[in-house]
Parts: sequence; C-alpha cells; structure tokens
Amino acid sequence: MNFSLDPNLPAALDASDALAELRSRFVITDPDTIYMDGNSLGRLPTAAAERMREVVEQQWGERLIRGWNDGWIETPARLGAKLAHLLGAQPDEVLVADSTSVNLFKLAVAALRARPQRRRLVSDSLNFPSDLYIFQGILDLLGGGRSLELIPSFDGLQTRQEDLEKTLGPDTALLSLSHVAFKSAFLYDMQAVTRLAHEQGALVLWDLSHSAGALPIDLNGWGVDLAVGCTYKYLNGGPGAPAYLYVRRDLQAELQQPIWGWFGANRPFAFDLDYSPADGMARYQIGTPPVLSLLALEPGLDLLAEAGVERLRAKSIQQTEYLLFLFQHWLEPLGFRLGSPLEPGQRGSHLSLRHPEAYRINWALINDPSVRVIPDFRAPDSLRLGIAPLYTSYLDIYRAADRIRLVTENKTYLNAPAQQARVT
Ligand SMILES: *Cc1c(COP(=O)(O)O)cnc(C)c1O
Repeated sequence: MNFSLDPNLPAALDASDALAELRSRFVITDPDTIYMDGNSLGRLPTAAAERMREVVEQQWGERLIRGWNDGWIETPARLGAKLAHLLGAQPDEVLVADSTSVNLFKLAVAALRARPQRRRLVSDSLNFPSDLYIFQGILDLLGGGRSLELIPSFDGLQTRQEDLEKTLGPDTALLSLSHVAFKSAFLYDMQAVTRLAHEQGALVLWDLSHSAGALPIDLNGWGVDLAVGCTYKYLNGGPGAPAYLYVRRDLQAELQQPIWGWFGANRPFAFDLDYSPADGMARYQIGTPPVLSLLALEPGLDLLAEAGVERLRAKSIQQTEYLLFLFQHWLEPLGFRLGSPLEPGQRGSHLSLRHPEAYRINWALINDPSVRVIPDFRAPDSLRLGIAPLYTSYLDIYRAADRIRLVTENKTYLNAPAQQARVT
C-alpha cells in the first residue's frame, strides 16, 4: 500500500474498511479524544454496558443464590470455549479464571514439577516484569537448585533465534515467553520456537496477553503445551477482567495444579475434607469465579468472533504501517526513534516510539485539553501507540500522529509536572 500525507486519505481508508462499522458498537463519548491504548485497556462495548445492567439488576438482584444453577457456575468453562476459537484450541482446553499472574504461577509450577530432573526455566529479557517476578518467586518457593535463564536481546527490542537456541538445553524444564513483547511489540514465531523447545524435551508456556484478539493464534496446530493471557487488552473485558489459561488436553490430567481450592476439586459440594482434583480443565480453577466480571467479558468476545481474527490482523498491519509512514515523515525528524521491529510480520499491534522526553510528551498528549490523545508511556523512553483494529480508525491514526508532532514541535510538554503519575 502506498500511503501519502494527504489529509483526506484517512477518511478514504475508513470508507473502504469492511470492519469500520464495528466502531459504532463501542461507547465513544468524545470522538475527538483519540484513544491509542486499546493494547492496555480495551474500550467498553455498548453491549457490555447493557449486559451489566441486566446481570446486576435481574440476575443478582432477583435470582440471588439461584443464579449459580441458572448458569453462573458454568461461566468460566463456557467463556473458555468461546475464547478457544480465537486461540486455535478445543473448547475443553481453555478456562477463564483468576489473573494472568496467578495463572502463570499455576502452570509454571505444574510444568516444572512435571520435569523434576531438569533445573532450568528459560524466558527472555523482553518479557513483562510480572511474568519474571512470578518465575523468581516460584524458584524461591521450589528451590532444588533451579534457576531462571533469560535469552538476551541484542538491541532491547527483539531476540535472535541463535541466542534462543544457545539458551535452551537438555536441562531446560520449561520455556515461557510472551508471544508479543509488551514494550517493543516484537512477535515470536510461536510454532518454530515451540518446536525448538520440544526438541530439547522442554514444556512451553506462552503468554498471549498482547496477541490474543489482535492476530491469529493456532495453539493446537503449533503444538503448544500451555498458555495464559489477559482479557482486558484486545479482548475488551474491562479493568481487571479475569484472565484465561490453556492446557493441551493430553496434559490436563498429567499436570498437578498447585493451588488446591474447592472449585478445582472433584466434588466441591460434597465438602470432603481431603482434596481430590476434578477431571479435565476444572482442576485448574481455584475458588469462586467473579461472575460479574466474567459476564462483562462476553460481549467483547462476541465482537471479535464477528469480526474474525484474520481480518483484524490484516487491518492491524495496514494501520500500523500507516502510523509508521506518518512517524517517518513527521516524527523521526523531531528526534523520535522507532522502538519496534520495522517488519510488520515481526510485530504485534502496537508501535513504540522512543524519545528522550517521552514521559512528558505522553503527559501533555493526555492532559492538555486542547490535545486529547491517549497513548501510554513505558520507561525509560517509549511512547506506546496501540492499534485495536476493532475500533481504531485511520482518522484516529492521522490525528494522533499530527497531534504528537504539534506537542513535540511546540514543546508544550514542558508544562508537564516532574513527578511521575502512579500508573503510566
Ligand atoms: C498485561 C500483561 C499481564 C498482566 O498480568 P495481570 O496479572 O493481569 O496483572 C501479564 N503478562 C503480560 C505479558 C501482559 O502483557
């Protein structure tokens, strides 16, 4: 696609976009505020707001405890089955439960204990810190001489296959990576990496938080053992929405989930004094599921199914390429550098733009009432711009790039407070 700086181009691109209509299914109170952070917190689907009213007033308000037998109890598995289509998994291989960090803990412990003779847990230096903290905590808990080995990054943005191969070995119990790196958007070839780890006899656990809903995933086809991910980014489940976990069917009975709660037990309402795990995915639950948050997620999943993830990926690539074009013409000359891979096939659905003043530029974009662009900032110097192809328009991208240019050129960011906000 040949882009241009023509201010009429974005409207023309929107007019020929088959997915453009889906934007109207989201709550957009101020169309002139440009939201570029759907990779961190997805927008609110209109249907989710309506659903919450119905669930709160009619289900909770009227049905009370009877709601559990009206369907609440099946919600984690039922939504897991919906999500499975998006992940290339079987309906009985995915469960919506807990947070990503907790699910990572459950599956990483289970995997390490399934390979007791092996001492290494391998990840990379691009991974989300919570994932690495969870691994460090697990090693502290399990002991036994286990260690965490990180695949190095030669440029802070991506890793090389040769470094991956050097880090994996016969002592690797588990390889756990993020499919798309949270800062640079670097995208792993999940199939090739999974194969390399399997050749060494290791299990593989992928974190899909920055890829599910934005690009096609084929967990079964790519031979993946285990996966986790969150639902409040491209899946639009709402702040703190419950996460999900995938366990390949043949591993479900073999692995032992380490947090034994009554919802993972064989017969929770027998109130037996001794734990005995349920069959299948049910044993990967812990306690009472957050029903309101679970049901708030469902309209977002339905919208993704309607759009189709192949079409979303095609649009995401076209839109990130357009943003890249505008960056090269307007922002690179102002001191920005690309903090993401140049090739769209090696990226997820966001772009990181690095600038020494990124923190203050991000602050001014969000807080200057005459600007109103919402990206986010990732230390030390990245301005992250997320493309959520369900609702991001080409006009959003044009305006965001234009306003970043103005704020940087006019140095209005110099008004930003020195003290950093708690959440960036
Ligand atoms: C967003 C994200 C998480 C979030 O974990 P929580 O437990 O929901 O806080 C974890 N891992 C990755 C890779 C993420 O991008």
